[in-house]
Amino acid sequence: MDGARIVLLGAPGSGKGTQAERLVEHLGVPAISTGDMLRAAVRDGSELGRKVESIMASGALVDDQTMAAVVRERLSKEDARAGFQLDGYPRTIGQVDTLDGILAEQGVELTGVVRILVPEDELVRRALARGRADDNEEVIRHRLAVYRDKTEPLSRHYEARGLLREVDGHQAIDEVTESILEALRAA
Ligand code: AMP
Repeated sequence: MDGARIVLLGAPGSGKGTQAERLVEHLGVPAISTGDMLRAAVRDGSELGRKVESIMASGALVDDQTMAAVVRERLSKEDARAGFQLDGYPRTIGQVDTLDGILAEQGVELTGVVRILVPEDELVRRALARGRADDNEEVIRHRLAVYRDKTEPLSRHYEARGLLREVDGHQAIDEVTESILEALRAA
Protein backbone atom coordinates (compact mmCIF):
# COMPACT_ATOMS: atom_id res chain seq x y z
CA MET A 1 0.00 0.00 0.00
CA ASP A 2 2.51 2.55 -1.22
CA GLY A 3 1.79 6.18 -0.56
CA ALA A 4 -0.80 5.64 2.16
CA ARG A 5 -1.85 8.97 3.66
CA ILE A 6 -4.06 8.11 6.53
CA VAL A 7 -5.78 9.79 9.43
CA LEU A 8 -6.58 7.64 12.45
CA LEU A 9 -9.65 8.85 14.31
CA GLY A 10 -10.69 7.53 17.69
CA ALA A 11 -11.30 8.61 21.24
CA PRO A 12 -8.50 8.73 23.79
CA GLY A 13 -7.92 5.09 24.75
CA SER A 14 -9.30 3.69 21.50
CA GLY A 15 -5.90 2.21 20.67
CA LYS A 16 -4.96 4.62 17.85
CA GLY A 17 -1.36 4.91 19.01
CA THR A 18 -0.91 1.15 19.44
CA GLN A 19 -2.40 0.49 16.03
CA ALA A 20 -0.39 3.23 14.34
CA GLU A 21 2.85 1.65 15.59
CA ARG A 22 1.75 -1.77 14.34
CA LEU A 23 0.70 -0.39 10.96
CA VAL A 24 4.14 1.11 10.30
CA GLU A 25 5.56 -2.19 9.02
CA HIS A 26 2.43 -3.07 7.04
CA LEU A 27 2.04 0.29 5.34
CA GLY A 28 5.69 1.36 5.20
CA VAL A 29 4.89 4.91 6.24
CA PRO A 30 5.73 6.68 9.51
CA ALA A 31 3.24 7.06 12.35
CA ILE A 32 3.00 10.69 13.38
CA SER A 33 1.52 11.24 16.83
CA THR A 34 0.98 14.87 17.75
CA GLY A 35 0.42 13.81 21.39
CA ASP A 36 3.88 12.15 21.43
CA MET A 37 5.44 15.22 19.81
CA LEU A 38 3.90 17.52 22.41
CA ARG A 39 4.89 15.22 25.29
CA ALA A 40 8.47 15.24 23.97
CA ALA A 41 8.37 19.04 23.85
CA VAL A 42 7.18 19.13 27.46
CA ARG A 43 10.00 16.76 28.50
CA ASP A 44 12.56 18.92 26.68
CA GLY A 45 11.22 22.05 28.34
CA SER A 46 11.14 23.81 24.96
CA GLU A 47 9.10 26.95 24.33
CA LEU A 48 6.37 24.80 22.77
CA GLY A 49 6.47 22.43 25.74
CA ARG A 50 6.08 25.24 28.26
CA LYS A 51 3.15 26.61 26.28
CA VAL A 52 1.22 23.33 26.11
CA GLU A 53 2.02 21.63 29.42
CA SER A 54 -0.91 22.86 31.51
CA ILE A 55 -3.36 22.59 28.61
CA MET A 56 -2.45 18.94 28.11
CA ALA A 57 -2.67 18.21 31.83
CA SER A 58 -6.25 19.52 31.89
CA GLY A 59 -7.36 17.35 28.98
CA ALA A 60 -8.16 20.37 26.80
CA LEU A 61 -6.95 20.88 23.24
CA VAL A 62 -3.95 22.95 22.24
CA ASP A 63 -5.02 25.79 19.91
CA ASP A 64 -5.27 25.16 16.18
CA GLN A 65 -2.61 27.70 15.24
CA THR A 66 0.05 26.12 17.46
CA MET A 67 -0.85 22.67 16.15
CA ALA A 68 -0.73 23.89 12.54
CA ALA A 69 2.92 24.87 12.96
CA VAL A 70 3.78 21.52 14.57
CA VAL A 71 2.11 19.47 11.85
CA ARG A 72 3.29 21.58 8.93
CA GLU A 73 6.90 21.16 10.04
CA ARG A 74 6.54 17.43 10.63
CA LEU A 75 4.83 16.73 7.29
CA SER A 76 7.55 18.62 5.43
CA LYS A 77 10.19 16.14 6.65
CA GLU A 78 11.60 13.73 4.11
CA ASP A 79 10.18 10.56 5.69
CA ALA A 80 6.61 11.83 5.40
CA ARG A 81 6.87 12.56 1.67
CA ALA A 82 5.93 9.05 0.60
CA GLY A 83 3.04 8.83 3.04
CA PHE A 84 2.11 8.93 6.71
CA GLN A 85 -0.41 7.93 9.31
CA LEU A 86 -1.61 10.76 11.49
CA ASP A 87 -2.50 9.74 15.05
CA GLY A 88 -4.19 12.54 16.96
CA TYR A 89 -4.43 15.11 14.17
CA PRO A 90 -6.75 16.61 13.00
CA ARG A 91 -8.98 16.98 16.06
CA THR A 92 -11.09 20.01 15.05
CA ILE A 93 -12.75 21.15 11.84
CA GLY A 94 -10.21 23.98 11.69
CA GLN A 95 -7.42 21.41 11.75
CA VAL A 96 -9.10 19.52 8.91
CA ASP A 97 -8.84 22.67 6.79
CA THR A 98 -5.23 23.22 7.79
CA LEU A 99 -4.31 19.65 6.88
CA ASP A 100 -6.08 19.95 3.51
CA GLY A 101 -4.11 23.14 2.87
CA ILE A 102 -0.75 21.55 3.73
CA LEU A 103 -1.45 18.51 1.55
CA ALA A 104 -2.67 20.68 -1.32
CA GLU A 105 0.62 22.59 -1.19
CA GLN A 106 2.43 19.27 -1.46
CA GLY A 107 0.17 18.18 -4.29
CA VAL A 108 -1.12 15.11 -2.45
CA GLU A 109 -4.37 13.95 -0.85
CA LEU A 110 -5.51 11.76 2.01
CA THR A 111 -6.07 8.16 0.95
CA GLY A 112 -8.24 7.14 3.89
CA VAL A 113 -9.56 7.95 7.33
CA VAL A 114 -9.89 5.09 9.79
CA ARG A 115 -12.22 5.50 12.73
CA ILE A 116 -11.63 3.10 15.62
CA LEU A 117 -14.84 2.59 17.59
CA VAL A 118 -14.76 1.64 21.28
CA PRO A 119 -17.65 1.97 23.79
CA GLU A 120 -17.18 4.80 26.29
CA ASP A 121 -17.23 2.53 29.39
CA GLU A 122 -14.36 0.57 27.93
CA LEU A 123 -12.45 3.79 27.20
CA VAL A 124 -12.71 4.90 30.82
CA ARG A 125 -11.72 1.44 32.05
CA ARG A 126 -8.64 1.42 29.80
CA ALA A 127 -7.61 4.93 30.78
CA LEU A 128 -7.84 4.18 34.50
CA ALA A 129 -5.95 0.89 34.02
CA ARG A 130 -3.15 2.79 32.27
CA GLY A 131 -2.76 4.83 35.44
CA ARG A 132 -0.74 7.79 34.15
CA ALA A 133 -0.33 10.54 36.70
CA ASP A 134 -2.54 12.94 34.75
CA ASP A 135 -5.21 10.30 34.16
CA ASN A 136 -7.62 10.82 37.02
CA GLU A 137 -11.24 10.11 36.19
CA GLU A 138 -12.19 13.77 35.94
CA VAL A 139 -9.50 14.50 33.35
CA ILE A 140 -10.38 11.32 31.47
CA ARG A 141 -14.06 12.28 31.31
CA HIS A 142 -13.10 15.78 30.19
CA ARG A 143 -10.89 14.39 27.41
CA LEU A 144 -13.75 12.18 26.24
CA ALA A 145 -16.19 15.10 26.29
CA VAL A 146 -13.77 17.23 24.25
CA TYR A 147 -13.45 14.34 21.80
CA ARG A 148 -17.23 14.07 21.48
CA ASP A 149 -17.72 17.82 20.98
CA LYS A 150 -14.78 18.73 18.78
CA THR A 151 -13.49 15.60 17.09
CA GLU A 152 -16.51 13.33 16.56
CA PRO A 153 -17.94 15.68 13.92
CA LEU A 154 -14.86 15.05 11.79
CA SER A 155 -16.05 11.53 10.99
CA ARG A 156 -19.20 12.89 9.32
CA HIS A 157 -17.07 15.33 7.38
CA TYR A 158 -14.75 12.60 6.10
CA GLU A 159 -17.67 10.29 5.46
CA ALA A 160 -19.18 12.92 3.16
CA ARG A 161 -15.87 12.94 1.28
CA GLY A 162 -15.98 9.17 0.90
CA LEU A 163 -12.82 8.65 2.95
CA LEU A 164 -14.18 7.17 6.17
CA ARG A 165 -13.64 3.50 7.15
CA GLU A 166 -14.97 2.29 10.49
CA VAL A 167 -13.38 -0.45 12.52
CA ASP A 168 -14.48 -2.20 15.73
CA GLY A 169 -11.79 -1.34 18.28
CA HIS A 170 -13.25 -3.55 20.98
CA GLN A 171 -11.41 -6.68 19.82
CA ALA A 172 -7.99 -8.22 20.45
CA ILE A 173 -5.15 -5.95 19.31
CA ASP A 174 -4.22 -8.25 16.38
CA GLU A 175 -7.79 -8.38 15.19
CA VAL A 176 -8.09 -4.60 15.22
CA THR A 177 -4.91 -4.35 13.12
CA GLU A 178 -6.29 -6.91 10.66
CA SER A 179 -9.63 -5.07 10.48
CA ILE A 180 -7.87 -1.81 9.71
CA LEU A 181 -5.79 -3.37 6.94
CA GLU A 182 -8.90 -4.96 5.50
CA ALA A 183 -10.79 -1.68 5.62
CA LEU A 184 -7.94 0.07 3.83
CA ARG A 185 -7.68 -2.65 1.19
CA ALA A 186 -11.39 -2.29 0.51
CA ALA A 187 -10.91 1.45 0.04
P1 AMP B 1 -2.99 12.32 22.61
O1 AMP B 1 -1.81 11.55 23.08
O2 AMP B 1 -3.19 12.30 21.12
O3 AMP B 1 -4.25 11.96 23.34
O4 AMP B 1 -2.70 13.86 22.95
C1 AMP B 1 -2.47 14.26 24.28
C2 AMP B 1 -2.83 15.73 24.44
O5 AMP B 1 -2.06 16.54 23.55
C3 AMP B 1 -4.27 16.07 24.10
O6 AMP B 1 -5.17 15.83 25.18
C4 AMP B 1 -4.17 17.55 23.76
O7 AMP B 1 -4.05 18.34 24.92
C5 AMP B 1 -2.83 17.60 23.02
N1 AMP B 1 -2.99 17.37 21.56
C6 AMP B 1 -2.51 16.35 20.82
N2 AMP B 1 -2.85 16.46 19.53
C7 AMP B 1 -3.60 17.59 19.44
C8 AMP B 1 -4.29 18.24 18.40
N3 AMP B 1 -4.29 17.76 17.15
N4 AMP B 1 -4.96 19.38 18.69
C9 AMP B 1 -4.99 19.89 19.92
N5 AMP B 1 -4.38 19.32 20.97
C10 AMP B 1 -3.68 18.17 20.75
